[in-house]
Amino acid sequence: MMGMQKVLIREGILIEKGDEVILAGSCCQKCGHMFFPPRSFCVDCFGSEMEVHEIGKRGVLYSFTTSYMPSAHFTPPYAAGWIEMGEQIRVFAPISIEEGQNLKIGMTMQLIADVLWEDGEKQIVGYIFKPALEGEV
Ligand SMILES: [Zn+2]
Repeated sequence: MMGMQKVLIREGILIEKGDEVILAGSCCQKCGHMFFPPRSFCVDCFGSEMEVHEIGKRGVLYSFTTSYMPSAHFTPPYAAGWIEMGEQIRVFAPISIEEGQNLKIGMTMQLIADVLWEDGEKQIVGYIFKPALEGEV
């Protein structure tokens, strides 16, 4: 693993805040529309003054699906779903579940930044969600 380079799956989607990593989107300075992933212009008003919007690391599970189909990067079965991160932001992400854990619509989900897959000498880092444990902030 020495010499592996960590590369963010998409620039600007994760930002470090203190000792934690949170999800970031963008916010239109003209109309206030928020986007994830971050965009360079607003599809609502075509404004181009976009500011970084700190989305945070917690959301609510809106819908999910468990896949048993082989995928290029994930070993089945694996889950993926939409997580609601506030009024305007809904994020589609892989979901990590531990044995014995069940996903339920409406449950609180927590962001983890982790290596998704390896690509030659690179480790591709992206966002995954897992059910938030009680007492974990
Ligand atoms: Zn706008």
